[in-house]
Amino acid sequence: MDLFEYQARDMFEKHGVPVLGGIVATTPEEARAAAEKLGSAVVVVKAQVKTGGRGKAGGVKLARSPQEAADRAAEILGMDIKGHTVHRVMIAQGADIAEEYYFSVLLDRANRSYLAMASKEGGMEIEQLAVERPEALARVPVDPTVGIDAAKAAEIVATAGFDADVADQVADVLQKLWGVYQAEDATLVEVNPLVKTGDGRIVALDGKVSLDANADFRHADHAELEDKAAADPLEAKAKENDLNYVKLDGSVGVIGNGAGLVMSTLDVVALAGEKHGDVTPANFLDIGGGASAEVMAAGLDVILGDPQVKSVFVNVFGGITACDAVANGIVAALGILGDEATKPLVVRLDGNNVEEGRRILAEAAHPLVTLADTMDGGADKAAELANAS
Ligand code: GDP
Ligand code: MN
Repeated sequence: MDLFEYQARDMFEKHGVPVLGGIVATTPEEARAAAEKLGSAVVVVKAQVKTGGRGKAGGVKLARSPQEAADRAAEILGMDIKGHTVHRVMIAQGADIAEEYYFSVLLDRANRSYLAMASKEGGMEIEQLAVERPEALARVPVDPTVGIDAAKAAEIVATAGFDADVADQVADVLQKLWGVYQAEDATLVEVNPLVKTGDGRIVALDGKVSLDANADFRHADHAELEDKAAADPLEAKAKENDLNYVKLDGSVGVIGNGAGLVMSTLDVVALAGEKHGDVTPANFLDIGGGASAEVMAAGLDVILGDPQVKSVFVNVFGGITACDAVANGIVAALGILGDEATKPLVVRLDGNNVEEGRRILAEAAHPLVTLADTMDGGADKAAELANAS
């Protein structure tokens, strides 16, 4: 999960990273009140969207009075920045910027390590800098078991060539940012710009934080950081039911058990779709090991709730949960859904007790269900049905 800048700011503050005051606002009136509350001569009105380059897109503006803050907020709210609509702004205390630096620490999957990057030439042109003068962007591996301690912070500061007058302060802030990264189970903490102010203080002026969802169980407080308004309602419903669901753009709903089987089912459906009007999979849905009636009903409910879905391909390999149990699950699920089940279902079962499973489905003779003998055959049928409707 990526955080909004104002959430990152709050998190930084909690961990002792130097930041300036910031208050989130959703209307020009709230922006005015926030600017009054901050009380600084200059405030910055900043679009809160989960994408970079807000400054260049006109989403970061200075204001010299509460009225100006309200006016700038009125301009920025509702703006579209790279496909993201601005629903809120952060009113931040204005900084007197002497220098702009860059710092990030992230998960380096390829090297099974963490990587810190730092530059004394931060700011809005950092991407260009990384391409044109990569030597100006220090890259220092960070041992996950040690982290950014005083020695590592000093190494990063030296490699990036920070001036002596700020070296100690920057090193101290890097250790605090590492504290955020580690304590919050982040996969990215990025500060651009990290600034030196006119009076020589080091302050994090922007913040980007990505949290590792695999560690959510350790962080009850992270749930409230989720942007519920932006979450796909079907994905939210799937999550409530502990289903592993990802919405895609096509029209053939796919249900399988086990991530590998579901992935290959997506491929097979996409291939079969080429012969049937180029239909493609509508989703990824792994119902996991126990394909009980409840889980199957929850899965079907989610998929049938997607208006783009025209047909559903259920592809299950009976292992620990045998095919007869899965077949009973499908029949019961269709019973639970009743009139809500309206789209054709192609079911392919294989594995443990497959004969019994097929017999149960044949006997139930549900009008929406077609049995398939093979995965390829099932995918072909499901694609054909999606194309026909
Ligand atoms: P981004 O473009 O999405 O990365 O947004 P930033 O928060 O990094 O802001 C973009 C730029 O606006 C920064 O690089 C600064 O140059 C400028 N900026 C942001 N906050 C302030 C501030 O408080 N005072 C001044 N003078 N400039 C600021
Ligand atoms: Mn920035």
